[in-house]
Amino acid sequence: MASGVPARRIGLFGGTFDPPHIGHLVPAICAAEQLSLDVVLMVVANVPWQKVGSRSISAAEDRLAMVQAAVSGVELLEASDVEIRRGGQTFTIDTIAELRATRPDAEVVVILGADAAAGLDSWERPNDLRRECDIAVLGRPGSYAEVPDGFRVVPVTTPLLDVSSTDIRRRVAEGRSVRFMVPDGAVAILERRRLYRDAHDGDRQ
Ligand code: ATP
Ligand code: MG
Repeated sequence: MASGVPARRIGLFGGTFDPPHIGHLVPAICAAEQLSLDVVLMVVANVPWQKVGSRSISAAEDRLAMVQAAVSGVELLEASDVEIRRGGQTFTIDTIAELRATRPDAEVVVILGADAAAGLDSWERPNDLRRECDIAVLGRPGSYAEVPDGFRVVPVTTPLLDVSSTDIRRRVAEGRSVRFMVPDGAVAILERRRLYRDAHDGDRQ
């Protein structure tokens, strides 16, 4: 990107999104509005390294298709396949570097839920992360937002939504409705592709 182009404020909201739900989408829009972000990229993890081995994770293309459907026509939110295209393990710091390669002037805000925030020091190259981005922590019922020292935290307030993909997978497996928890477009995909039908993966991660 040529210099002189105004900096873009970009939110990075990574997740497994298996499936995406209102607990992702409502706070993402709140963060975009409150932090004056030009866009929030919903970055679908290729191999979610913190979850590998604990349960079977839906194919990246299914998770991406559901996120694309969920944000279709939604201002400020965009599905990103950057980590899927890169392949292999998924690290936020690499995604920031890739963004900056085309947009050196970007201001990056990493958005994550309170349950994930406490683990930031276990992410790849945490000291680079401290330098490269602001952090917006979304409240999540049952999780206390504790961010390790040295991260620049920017405040966001969002409705607290006690929803998780784990709970949604369980509902689908039990034949219960997930309408209004998951956007209709994403529900259509999970039904058509018969996702979560025999999931026995109740562990919340
Ligand atoms: P799972 O139950 O499979 O772990 P999840 O609902 O936690 O799914 P993830 O894809 O693991 O969803 O989460 C992606 C990001 O969204 C994480 O930063 C997580 O903390 C955040 N997040 C998920 N659900 C909520 C929620 N209800 N409120 C706020 N943040 C959330
Ligand atoms: Mg989770």
